[in-house]
Amino acid sequence: MSPLFPALTEALADPDGPGAHRPALRFGDRSLTYGELAAVAAPLAGRLAGAGRIAVWATPTLETAVAVVAALLAGVPAVPLNPKSGESELGHIVSDSAPTLVLAEAGDQLPSALGELGRVDIDVRAAGAPQVPEDLTPVPDVPEEPAPESPALIVYTSGTTGPPKGAVIPRRAIAATLDALADAWAWTGDDVLVHGLPLFHVHGLILGILGPLRRGGSVRHLGRFETAGVARELTEGATMLFGVPTMYHRIAEALPDDPALAKSLGKARLLVSGSAALPVHDHERIAAATGRRVIERYGMTETLMNTSVRADGEPRAGTVGVPLPGVELRLTEDDGVTAVEAYDGETVGEIQVRGPNLFTEYLNRPDATVEAFTEGGWFRTGDMAVRDPDGYVRIVGRKATDLIKSGGYKIGAGEIENALLEHPGVREAAVTGEPDADLGERIVAWIVPDSDLSPPSAEELADHVARRLAPHKRPRTVRYLDALPRNDMGKIMKRALPHD
Ligand code: ATP
Ligand code: MG
Repeated sequence: MSPLFPALTEALADPDGPGAHRPALRFGDRSLTYGELAAVAAPLAGRLAGAGRIAVWATPTLETAVAVVAALLAGVPAVPLNPKSGESELGHIVSDSAPTLVLAEAGDQLPSALGELGRVDIDVRAAGAPQVPEDLTPVPDVPEEPAPESPALIVYTSGTTGPPKGAVIPRRAIAATLDALADAWAWTGDDVLVHGLPLFHVHGLILGILGPLRRGGSVRHLGRFETAGVARELTEGATMLFGVPTMYHRIAEALPDDPALAKSLGKARLLVSGSAALPVHDHERIAAATGRRVIERYGMTETLMNTSVRADGEPRAGTVGVPLPGVELRLTEDDGVTAVEAYDGETVGEIQVRGPNLFTEYLNRPDATVEAFTEGGWFRTGDMAVRDPDGYVRIVGRKATDLIKSGGYKIGAGEIENALLEHPGVREAAVTGEPDADLGERIVAWIVPDSDLSPPSAEELADHVARRLAPHKRPRTVRYLDALPRNDMGKIMKRALPHD
């Protein structure tokens, strides 16, 4: 396989070449060129080779990026850990993935769940070789490029629908997905990405860090997402922004009072959203204030990226675009094998995908791995969608939590949530189904009212939805909350909604 990071390999081979001086990573006021990244990651990679599996304490820092790059150079599978995980989740991930070492920024306090592991401190400022335990065999040179099918990363799913599962991601999938995105987004080494996401999921780590490095471009990480940082970086030459819907929501809220933010977004080449559905209301507000439409892409830990609106395509609110090059996508009926032929924007089916972007297996879960695939090798995403006549995919929600069977209809929670969010008195909305003697399931709306206004009544909200969608889609019950339960990617955790 050709190198995963050609620009880095070139800088390793020719530390004084012009490519070595190009910027690679910037976190706050600390940055590394390709040459500097090679100089710090290569000795670490040499020392890690043969270490078995390693864990990375994935704070949003330069050290995390260096640790992951070193593991990839060494061909040692890396498990990024969420520093905000509770002890029990961390304990589960550590015992499931059984790393031999943990890489962390020097000085970081690690929780007791990691106490048994050998620790490698990384301090990018202390130039030269990072400290490694004595008992690791030093390997002087960077190893050969590992085989395409060898595991590169083990990334745990977000745990939205159940305990996180470790997806084993081979190098081949990372290369395939990043190259497919480059095609769809005309993404090149001249692009500079603004990044404000955590580094322990596919979005923040594979797309946000490894993506720019594979292209030979650069990334500027904000440490913590703030709209002021986005405006600053886009004004100072950054070309793309990757975010999750909660970030775009904050941007949409800030825009009316922040002309500098609007101007900076208007200059961006590409605004990309993913990890969860971008509410139509936020998409439209951003388009109205900046003249730019956010591009949505759809992916999963297990499949990396499946679809996207293309940079040369037509961004449309509420859709995740078309299958990426190399990705086969079909919708299936309830039996999970009969393909839905319709491109009518109405017939709902489960999304199944096949392609070089797919993971290999769930770690230690052969049962779950077998269950996840059909006999023909299609991966069952568990996401439900319709297709427009031109092939654009619209996700209606997850099979497990977002598909409501009410009065003989199959209703997606997403469009009702979008309709509710258009009501001025609604700040956040989630829709679920609950058992109902008459209807089978009844539509329940969970609302976080806008604190500045008096909360809209259940009747008013039902009428509001019925005016926008078919009458059978109106909520029958409305429950009011102070906040929706969300995980660290801002995804709504419907299983954590309080039930009577
Ligand atoms: P778990 O599998 O542990 O329950 P999870 O599915 O949230 O958690 P991820 O792999 O991080 O874990 O997320 C993938 C899911 O995120 C997809 O299956 C889909 O439901 C959702 N998703 C990602 N991008 C989009 C998008 N653009 N629009 C709607 N949903 C999206
Ligand atoms: Mg999932």
